[in-house]
Amino acid sequence: MRKNQIYIGRIKGIAVGLDYSWFLIFILVTWILAGSYFPSQFKGWSTFEYWISGAVTSVLFFLSVLLHEISHSVVAGKFKIKVNQITLFIFGGIAEIKEEPKNSSQEFWIAIAGPIMSLIIAVVSYFISRISPEHSQLYAIFDYLFQINLILVLFNLIPGFPLDGGRVFRAIVWSITKDFQRATNIAATVGRFFGFIFILIGFFMMMRGAVIDGIWIAFIGWFLESAALAQLQRQVLYKLLAGKKVEDAMSKAFALLPANTTIQEFIDNEILLRNRRFFIVEDKGVQIGFVTVHAIKSVPKELWESTTIREIMTPMSGVKKTHPEEPLLDALKQMDKNGVNQLPVFDENDKIIGIISRENILSLLNTIHLNELG
Ligand SMILES: [Zn+2]
Repeated sequence: MRKNQIYIGRIKGIAVGLDYSWFLIFILVTWILAGSYFPSQFKGWSTFEYWISGAVTSVLFFLSVLLHEISHSVVAGKFKIKVNQITLFIFGGIAEIKEEPKNSSQEFWIAIAGPIMSLIIAVVSYFISRISPEHSQLYAIFDYLFQINLILVLFNLIPGFPLDGGRVFRAIVWSITKDFQRATNIAATVGRFFGFIFILIGFFMMMRGAVIDGIWIAFIGWFLESAALAQLQRQVLYKLLAGKKVEDAMSKAFALLPANTTIQEFIDNEILLRNRRFFIVEDKGVQIGFVTVHAIKSVPKELWESTTIREIMTPMSGVKKTHPEEPLLDALKQMDKNGVNQLPVFDENDKIIGIISRENILSLLNTIHLNELG
């Protein structure tokens, strides 16, 4: 579970997390319902009735979003696609699906499953509200759930990536063009377009006096636009790195150092004299760990004479590794996932033969770019 999140349990083996921003939404929704929406629609309730109805509606709204995300995850599971976790945050929920769907029909069904669930909840809520006595709390709660789930369906079906509708749209373009990259580009571009439209509508509403609603719509638009743009940039990177392996970009400029080298010797003899960035620590001919220049920063200067590199090294056990044949993109994704800037490259005998860093990948990208221009 990531930071800024509270783990609330597992459903069908998938971890469910609550982002702190969700509590803001819970308070906001309860407050708007109890403080203004319910009092304007249903007069004559007690203050307690307004607040308890508001809080219950908020919790049921939360469950609606959760059910929506679970539907995506269950369908993904049917296709043997792993779901890391479900996170509920300020804009709703995200089911973190580990891999891209293998074909367009899988993508279609995973994406459409959420809106279908929201539609079912809307219909059920509608019927519960209609059979409840008018003006009752039950009526108020389910009438609101009907409306909000219907909005959820309509919003999610906007055909711009990364919304569900954008994924459905991508699946359709994908099945026509047979080109996943191109389909993603088109769907993300449409997503940016809708993002701009939302921002424009938001500003228009603000100018007409609906400031809070306007800010909210513009904020959603900005979120959509930046998510779609990030996807487009990722596509460019994927395209440039496609077919490239770790060995194409890795650096072999590393040195072997005895474990009892002090940090001072390390700096004087290795860093200042030679332009190396990565060092393997050896003890009696065995590779026991590695040090980067970065690790020195954790030790105060006055201790450099007395501290050995063994004490600041990253031990080989438990280290995230890669191998020369691994696709470069997978290595990059692994760095992102583990929050590191480099990975040691191991050969089949489990010996380090090089290092792959973000810098290496960037300089490879530069050469590819120059070659394409030239
Ligand atoms: Zn969804």
